[in-house]
Amino acid sequence: MDFTDSPSEAAFRAEAVAFLEAHVPEEFGSYTSGDDQEKVYEQHLAWQKTLAQHGWGALTWPESYGGRGKGPIEQIIWNEELSKRGVGHSMLTVGIGMVGPTLVAHGTPEQQERYLGPLLRADETWCQLFSEPGAGSDLAGLATRAVRDGDDWVVNGQKTWCSGAQHNDFGILIARTDPSLPKHKGITFFLLDMKAPGIEVRPLIEMTGESHFNEVFLNDVRVPDSARLGELNAGWAVAQTTLMNERMAMGGLSNLLHFDELKALVVEEAGGHPDATQRDELAKVYSQLRCLELLNARVVSKLGRGVMPTAESSVMKLALARVMTKANALAMRALGPKALLRPGYWQNEYLFAPAFHIAGGTSEVQKTVCAERVLGLPREESSDRQRAFEELPRS
Ligand SMILES: Cc1cc2nc3c(=O)[nH]c(=O)nc-3n(C[C@H](O)[C@H](O)[C@H](O)COP(=O)(O)OP(=O)(O)OC[C@H]3O[C@@H](n4cnc5c(N)ncnc54)[C@H](O)[C@@H]3O)c2cc1C
Repeated sequence: MDFTDSPSEAAFRAEAVAFLEAHVPEEFGSYTSGDDQEKVYEQHLAWQKTLAQHGWGALTWPESYGGRGKGPIEQIIWNEELSKRGVGHSMLTVGIGMVGPTLVAHGTPEQQERYLGPLLRADETWCQLFSEPGAGSDLAGLATRAVRDGDDWVVNGQKTWCSGAQHNDFGILIARTDPSLPKHKGITFFLLDMKAPGIEVRPLIEMTGESHFNEVFLNDVRVPDSARLGELNAGWAVAQTTLMNERMAMGGLSNLLHFDELKALVVEEAGGHPDATQRDELAKVYSQLRCLELLNARVVSKLGRGVMPTAESSVMKLALARVMTKANALAMRALGPKALLRPGYWQNEYLFAPAFHIAGGTSEVQKTVCAERVLGLPREESSDRQRAFEELPRS
């Protein structure tokens, strides 16, 4: 595989670099950095507005929807250049990276006209209301109900782990509309106005001390049928578009780990002379990050040929969670007792790292995908796929 840019890719990179050199903001905090989260959120909103203003708001969306109409290879080049300048990961990823492509694929022309422009310009922001206390890995087991009443749906239930919901204007919601169907078949996808009466958002405090995600309670919330995305009871297929885009976004997160900074920390804390174990660990982190980059390139190359990646994104997600944990533990060991004395960037990263084993599909579930699709082992048994949801035993 040739990793050098083709002439057209090089031209695109030059164009991206010229734009970024002129516009990258001086301050751009990370949501895992321990910085003031309200301030970071404002910085991310402002940056998205700048990107949209100059036509860089959503690289892969079609031009007719305000995107740049580029392919996955350009997206990777763009991500690389963003990451080099410390603006690689945005708190608006759910909207731009997941909701936008879902609306483009499944929205009616009216819905696309109504929602895509404000989303792109960060005039309206979005969260994802999928997980529930009893439905995470087994997402199709969700129990939130939507019942038809005239032109509306009335929604009752509880969602959880909803990143950013305390800030957002809209949410993508999946709810059960027909419990007499098997669990994957009676689900419908809605676009929810987060200001609607009956919605209560309660931030959850993580061990970092911050609140990235929330519980969302839905009590008799009315959603117009015009805010249904896709066909009635076909929400599982619509949600697959969202989840596939989520996995892609997670794969690119290796940008979050700044290897040079980790190396500098280890070297400095060791007085310029890291011992053999530290050198060995640094080398392992470096090689694993490099492997992730190459795997990412494989995914991109598949996408470039119009082939959907299958298990690669699971392997990437699994490897990413492992390397994040390893790297942040290495930083903690380098800091030694100092790590306990004052909070800082690495302490916060260390406390946030376990979340990477859970978000976007847990490590155990990714291993099952790899076992089935890479190793060809028999499919995990499931006895509930064909039975009506309402007949399934539930705790
Ligand atoms: C940082 C972060 C952000 C998130 N943001 C959002 C968001 O914005 N919106 C949203 O809807 N959700 C969000 N989530 C939720 C996330 O998608 C779920 O946490 C995840 O799918 C796991 O579900 P669960 O927490 O219910 O765990 P469970 O599914 O209950 O799993 C519990 C444990 O059992 C294991 N397990 C479960 N099933 C199997 C199996 N078949 N085989 C082997 N082991 C299994 C799991 O690996 C895990 O260790 C977020 C999570 C995190 C950590």
